[in-house]
Amino acid sequence: MAIVEALPGDGDRRRYRLRSPATLKEIGEFEASTEAMVQAAVARARKAQASWAGRSFAERAEYLWRLVDVIVQRQDEIVEQVMRETGKPRNEAISMEVMAPCVQISHYAKRAAKYLATKRRPASGMMRFSKKVTLFYQPLGVVGLITPWNAPIALSANPLAQALMAGNAVVQKPSEVTPFSAMLLKELTVAAGFPDDIYQVLQGDGETGAALVRAGVDKVSFTGSVATGRKVGEACGRRLIPVTLELGGKDAMIVCRDADLERAAEGAVRGSCWNTGHYCCGTERVYVPEAVYEPFVEKVVTKTRALKQSDSEECDVGAVFWDRQMETIEAHVADAKARGARVLVGGARNPALRGYFFQPTVVVDLNHDMALMRHETFGPIVAIQKVRDEEEALALANDSAYGLSGNIWTRSIERGMALARRIETGSVCVNDMAITYGVAEAPFGGVKASGVGQVNGETGIRGYCHLHPVVVNSEKRVRGGYPYTAESAAALQRAVRFLFGNRFLRRFLV
Ligand code: NAD
Repeated sequence: MAIVEALPGDGDRRRYRLRSPATLKEIGEFEASTEAMVQAAVARARKAQASWAGRSFAERAEYLWRLVDVIVQRQDEIVEQVMRETGKPRNEAISMEVMAPCVQISHYAKRAAKYLATKRRPASGMMRFSKKVTLFYQPLGVVGLITPWNAPIALSANPLAQALMAGNAVVQKPSEVTPFSAMLLKELTVAAGFPDDIYQVLQGDGETGAALVRAGVDKVSFTGSVATGRKVGEACGRRLIPVTLELGGKDAMIVCRDADLERAAEGAVRGSCWNTGHYCCGTERVYVPEAVYEPFVEKVVTKTRALKQSDSEECDVGAVFWDRQMETIEAHVADAKARGARVLVGGARNPALRGYFFQPTVVVDLNHDMALMRHETFGPIVAIQKVRDEEEALALANDSAYGLSGNIWTRSIERGMALARRIETGSVCVNDMAITYGVAEAPFGGVKASGVGQVNGETGIRGYCHLHPVVVNSEKRVRGGYPYTAESAAALQRAVRFLFGNRFLRRFLV
């Protein structure tokens, strides 16, 4: 039974019926916005943005603080909505979709003024005596926000807070798998008194997302799969608009021989099964040296067996949010088994449950010929490969088309830091599952196929701005002007020799 079922359309509006992946009960229907509706929304956003950009940081922040108030007051509603649409456990709905957005929104309400403060600095070199530079962080205008289904509130609220604090308007196209969560966030901004059209949500599918990219927005902030990211990046390239692409990953975990195995096993299970494994920087591959392999696997097996799975609120690992993802998870496990892998725990759908539940799983005897170790699985699977030592683990961690994040477990912070610097990923954690996205001070973004650009913190919010330098000249006349003569050319060459032909002066000047 499809979670997102296409219905007979009404004219040029595609219609969908949505079901809960946990209960398979119908949640509701929605219609995709048409191209004309998308364009109209962007035009409305542009109007709203003009006055929004004129407000001070303190005024913009006040709206965000009020949004946090509303989120706190209506957190039960958010949790219920997210659980209905995704089937994630209540604990994860609270931590990921209520707590994290409160942290994110508050962070930018408090710090945007500092991150985006106008800066004045004298020019260097010969220009230091005559020119002063002022750097203004100017909003880009209208940001098109395209989001996935794995954290429907958090992955909307975080870029929204940054884009708004930077003075932009936002038009969002949420995932067709979680359309009602995004609508709820929109509703919460209305309750918080946000100005009309400063934040709009348009329902739809991939075509609606593509329509948003070509609707004249000034930047696209995209979070989703590599395949769609490539299309969005190409479309933005054609339009010469900036884009951040936060894409998928195949994050590796390296267990060092000196690791606290209890802690590392806990990290492996949590990193792999959290949010049903639907976490862009979830742990998808675990490399363990043979010296500690047996005790580590034993601990992981015990911990995974202890996980509760059910369609009630009392569970540790919830539903697979989308039947299409279930197909990928099943295909990867089947491929691994066919190539000689052994399943120690789980390995199949949960036969006791009606909805889309894949059992928390441990798979061993893996290698890089298997899809499970090469392509993003996005399921609750601890996939463990035995290695000789940390060097082999590192080589295998880097043997990937992806490069989002990763984690290293060791009692030696020095060793952890040294390995972390050699992992080819956007970020790394030592002795923790990959939680960089939740630490606003750490810029987050992938390398290789995992994305382009970074989000979060100072770096992220500045990505929603154009850094606009204004150079003021205090000289009485314009230098180097006409007419050009043989003498003026010779004088220029003498100046080059004098200023840069001497190492001491060269260093002093620049
Ligand atoms: P997806 O690429 O299928 O869809 C993402 C969004 O793009 C959806 O809203 C979709 O409707 C829209 N879309 C689809 N086709 C489009 C097109 N041609 N033009 C414009 N928009 C289009 O991804 P998904 O399945 O929703 O999300 C899961 C993926 O997201 C995983 O790969 C996961 O790793 C990744 N993800 C990355 C991060 C990160 O920060 N790096 C965070 C969360 C999820």
